[in-house]
Amino acid sequence: KGKFKTDIEIARESEMLPITEIAAKIGLGPDDLEMYGKHKAKLSFDCLAKLETKESGKVILVTAINPTPAGEGKSTVTVGLADALNKVGKKAMIAMREPSLGPTMGIKGGAAGGGYAQVLPMDEINLHFTGDLHAITTANNALAALIDNHLQQGNELQIDARRIVWKRALDLNDRALRKVVVGLGGPIQGVPREDGFDITVASEIMAVLCLASSLQDLKSRLSRMVIAYNMEKKPVTVGDLGVEGALALLLKDAVKPNLVQTIERTPALVHGGPFANIAHGCNSVMATKAASRLADFVVTEAGFGADLGAEKFLNIKTRDAGFEPAAVVIVATIRALKMHGGLAKNELAVENIPALKAGFANLKKHAETIAGFGLPFVIAVNKFITDTDLETKTLLDLCEAESIPASLTEVWEKGGAGGVELAGKLLGVMDAPSSFRRTYDLSDSLEQKIEAVARQVYGASGVDFAPKAKKQLADFEQNGWGVLPVCMAKTQYSLSDDPVKLGRPSGFAITVRELKPSIGAGFIVVLTGEVMTMPGLPKRPAALNMDVDEDGNAIGLF
Ligand code: ADP
Repeated sequence: KGKFKTDIEIARESEMLPITEIAAKIGLGPDDLEMYGKHKAKLSFDCLAKLETKESGKVILVTAINPTPAGEGKSTVTVGLADALNKVGKKAMIAMREPSLGPTMGIKGGAAGGGYAQVLPMDEINLHFTGDLHAITTANNALAALIDNHLQQGNELQIDARRIVWKRALDLNDRALRKVVVGLGGPIQGVPREDGFDITVASEIMAVLCLASSLQDLKSRLSRMVIAYNMEKKPVTVGDLGVEGALALLLKDAVKPNLVQTIERTPALVHGGPFANIAHGCNSVMATKAASRLADFVVTEAGFGADLGAEKFLNIKTRDAGFEPAAVVIVATIRALKMHGGLAKNELAVENIPALKAGFANLKKHAETIAGFGLPFVIAVNKFITDTDLETKTLLDLCEAESIPASLTEVWEKGGAGGVELAGKLLGVMDAPSSFRRTYDLSDSLEQKIEAVARQVYGASGVDFAPKAKKQLADFEQNGWGVLPVCMAKTQYSLSDDPVKLGRPSGFAITVRELKPSIGAGFIVVLTGEVMTMPGLPKRPAALNMDVDEDGNAIGLF
């Protein structure tokens, strides 16, 4: 980054207002807030109840092309766009996900935006924040402990220890915990069985918290979660175990949205954080809804490319919560398009027009996908200092030739001022009447739903179901779960389920390996390719650059 300051340096130099002042700007008083220090607050249940009767503003979804490992700047553009909307006199807020320590310590180094488009306090948001992820981890593992204790204490529910589907969780990347054996050591140490860990953001409890409309709804969803099958192969739920109350109690504060501010003091709700490759990839419904009642425009993001987060935002979240987005922003970077055009990671800093032109196919597919949902959209070209003028002009010309509205976005470098043109174009396209339609109907079979997403959103030629998945399709329909939407788990790097097929692959089939019931969340998880629900750390984890100085200031978050 050379002469440019790092994200954490910029964040530390920015002066925050007390969160009470940010809240006052959107009409919230002391009774609406539960303070977590001076710069973070949760919205109280009273506040959330009060907002329910208010009219909703417009929701703008930020999505992207298939990303490179470092991310394409969706969070950065989400923050910068809301700042820009405020700059042009609109009343805008943000609803976005809270970071997971897995990628923070691993490859990303943080997820609170970047440059001059960040939410603050950046270090706290990236580390333990208000403890939501810890509460979710604890609830997840309390349930695991209660299941094992049930086996130990006589197993009244006749749970088949070989068919327990509830796994333990940890908010870290730790490949060594993917498969473990628990209960070793003799009769008083529990019943030995194979178990495993998922990263917390893939826990069904994360999805439940993000889709719940209230504390009561959270509890009913927790109660419906399937934890195992019994000796007759019938599903056993949290409700059968009778612990939904305890789990809801552990989550009673985590379920409340967190209010923070951007560098330019735009109010932001940062709440819930499922990944979009192995989970549904959207911040909480409660945060999005609250924000839409506190502002005229809410800018929200969904993880990874439009094939993952946006697909699930549109087919799962908005259907469940009962709202429609007004418009979509698709973030693209020239460096990622060049990778889609065949360049290696170390070749991206040099101008290469042919690679850019070839890689444009990936952006074009995502634009077609969003157009297929009947939603107006604008491409945000997130400018990097390595982009040349000719590359930028080439990309904007390619968009124009296809009649795709696009805007060069410089919010990383300039904050809201760098997103004014994007904001203007977006306000322009939003006036068109909406013709929103989803990829499938809930009445379609699970197989039809999976086929529809694979063909229409990924551009696949079809779907291959492994024998196990085939059997599950039949069993799940039998259990009455066929009416649920599908939550696809797929690599984020490719439109296909093979991470090395970049650009716009064609003639490929999606392989469905296994299905998992997330009945509390209200969807069926569909595992494709080799996707993992517990990531590993890279060769040089971001943790190697992290430190803390004598005054407790964070170093090395980015
Ligand atoms: P995403 O939400 O797509 O995963 P982020 O917004 O979190 O991506 O950005 C990923 C990283 O890239 C952050 O460290 C951010 O500071 C950096 N970044 C984003 N946009 C730019 C840009 N235009 N120039 C340089 N770095 C950027």
